[in-house]
Amino acid sequence: MPWSSRWQVSTPTCSLLDYLFTSSTAVLSGQPILLDADRPEYHLTLHTYREWSKRLAAGLRQRGFKPGDRLLLYSGNTIFFPVVMMGTIAAGGVFTAANPSYVPRELAYQLKDSGAMFLITAEGSLATSLEAAKSIDFPQDRIFVFDDGYNTFDNRGRSVQNISHWSRLLAPPQEAATFEWPTFHSREQMDITTAVINYSSGTTGVPKGVEITHTNYVANCVQTAYMASLAPDYEEKHSTAKLLSFLPMYHAYGQTAHCVSSPSRGTPLYIMRKYDFLKMLAHVQKYRITGLNLVPPIAVALSKRPEVKDYDISSLEAAGCGAAPLGRESVAEFDRVVTKGRFRLRQGWGMTEITCSAIGWDPRLEMDSGAVGELNPNIEGMFVDEEGREVAHGLSGEFWVKGPNVMKGYWRKPEATKETVTDDGWLKTGDIGYRDQDGLIYIIDRKKELIKVKANQVAPAELESLLLDHPAVQDAAVVGVTINGEELPRAYIVLQEQQRVSPQEIAKWLASQVAPHKRLAGGVQMTDAIPKNPSGKILRKILRERAVIEVGDG
Ligand code: AMP
Repeated sequence: MPWSSRWQVSTPTCSLLDYLFTSSTAVLSGQPILLDADRPEYHLTLHTYREWSKRLAAGLRQRGFKPGDRLLLYSGNTIFFPVVMMGTIAAGGVFTAANPSYVPRELAYQLKDSGAMFLITAEGSLATSLEAAKSIDFPQDRIFVFDDGYNTFDNRGRSVQNISHWSRLLAPPQEAATFEWPTFHSREQMDITTAVINYSSGTTGVPKGVEITHTNYVANCVQTAYMASLAPDYEEKHSTAKLLSFLPMYHAYGQTAHCVSSPSRGTPLYIMRKYDFLKMLAHVQKYRITGLNLVPPIAVALSKRPEVKDYDISSLEAAGCGAAPLGRESVAEFDRVVTKGRFRLRQGWGMTEITCSAIGWDPRLEMDSGAVGELNPNIEGMFVDEEGREVAHGLSGEFWVKGPNVMKGYWRKPEATKETVTDDGWLKTGDIGYRDQDGLIYIIDRKKELIKVKANQVAPAELESLLLDHPAVQDAAVVGVTINGEELPRAYIVLQEQQRVSPQEIAKWLASQVAPHKRLAGGVQMTDAIPKNPSGKILRKILRERAVIEVGDG
C-alpha cells in the first residue's frame, strides 16, 4: 500500500500573491528582506517588494499583457528578480526564467516553447538575447533590459542599443497603488491557474515547461514551512535568522526557497548576483548568516577547501542540501568539519515537477545522514517495479509521489504528461530508492536519462539531437559518468563512413552550442554501434557500465 506523510496541513485557498503578501493592500513589514549582498543599502522590504510587483503588474496590463500570457526573465539573481516573478503573476500571467548561462540556441528554444510575450534580459546578456530573438523572429520591441537592480530606481527611460530599460514596463507608483491582483475564491481556480513554468527534461527527452499552479506553489510552501516550524526552538531561531542566496532563482529550488518562502517568513535574505565560493564565506562572516541552502558541490567544497578556516562561519545554525545526491560520507564530513557537531546538515529531495520539494526532515529527530528524509505533509509515496507494481516494504524501486504540489503537467505536451503522471495523479520520478523501517527514504540511483552536473540538469536527448546535426556523425548517445565524484556527460559516437573527426573536435564543436555545464566533460568515445533495443531505444545502462570501466569512479 502507498504510504502517507505523518502530517496533514491545510492549504489555504488563495493566490500565491495573497499567500506571500496577504493582500494587495494589507499593511506590510518595512524590514529589509531582500538585500543585495554586495551593497545591502539596496534592499526591498515585504512592502516595497509588493509595491514594485504591483507597478510591474499594472504596467504589463497597460501594454496588453493578458491573464495567461508568459514573460521570460533571462538573468542572474538580483533583488528585483523576485519582483519580476511576482509582478508577472500579479498581472495574471505566467512567469518563466532561463538559465543565465544559456547560449542563443537554448534561450531561443525556451522563448519559443513558452510563447513568451515579453523577454526581460540582463544587460550583459543582451547580445545573446538579440541573437536568440532574431533566430525565431521575436520582436525587438518586446525585449527589455534588466540591469543589476541598483539603478532601477532612477533608470526610467534609459535604453541600451535601442532596447528599453525594463523600468519602462513599470506603471507609476500612484497608478499601481490601486492595482489589485486576481483573488481566488475556490480551490478549482487555484488548481487550474498556472503561475510559473520552470523547465526540466523530466524522466526522458528534451527540456519541457513544467506548469506550476497557484495550488502547487502555495501547497509546497505550506508544507516546508510546517516542517521547519516543528523545530523546538523555531520561534527563537526564526526571529534572528538570516539567509544567503546564491542558488539560481531560475531553478525551482532557489526560486521557491528565496523568492517566496523566506520572504513569506520575513527572513532577511542577502542575494549574491553570482555564486563565488570565497565571497560566500565572506558574506556569511560579515552578515552573521544563520542558514544556507546548499547543493552537493558547495557542501563538499565547504568540507574540503582549506580557505574555510580563514573565515568565521560560526553564526551558521542550519544548512540543507538537495538537487543532487550527496553521499553519507560527505554529510558526515560536513558535520565534522563545518558544523563541528553544532547542527546536522539535512538533505532534502525535490524535483521541478513537484514544484520544489517532497521530502524533508523532521527537525526534532536525529536522522541517518544517508537518508533524504520523510515525506512532506499531504504527500503520498510508493516504490514500484518495472511494471509499475508496488514493491514490498524495504525493497528498492522507482519512487512515485502524489500530492497537491505535483505539477499540472508539461506545457503543451500532453503526451509527455501522460507518460510521467498516471491518471490517478502519481508522478513517476525516475529516481530509485527505498524506505526503511523508520519511514526514512533513501535515494540510491536514477533510472531516468537525466544527468546532473553540479546540480544543473543536462538532458542527454538534447545533446544527442545536436550531435546528430554534425555532418560526420551517424549516431550518438550521451550518458552520465562519475569522475572524481562529479557526474559529467560522456558521448558515444558512430561516425559516418569515411569520416575522420577526432573526439576533441566533436567535444569542441558541441561546446560552442551549449551552456558550459552541458559540455562533454566526461569525454567522447568513438564506437562501432550504439546499443539499442528492437524498437530503437538506446540501452543506456550498457553504455553507463562501459563508461564506468573506461573512465569512471565506479
Ligand atoms: P530538478 O528537477 O532539477 O530539481 O532535478 C530533480 C532530480 O534531482 C531528482 O529527480 C533527482 O534525480 C535529483 N535529486 C534531487 N534531490 C536529490 C537528493 N537529495 N538526492 C539524490 N538525488 C536528488
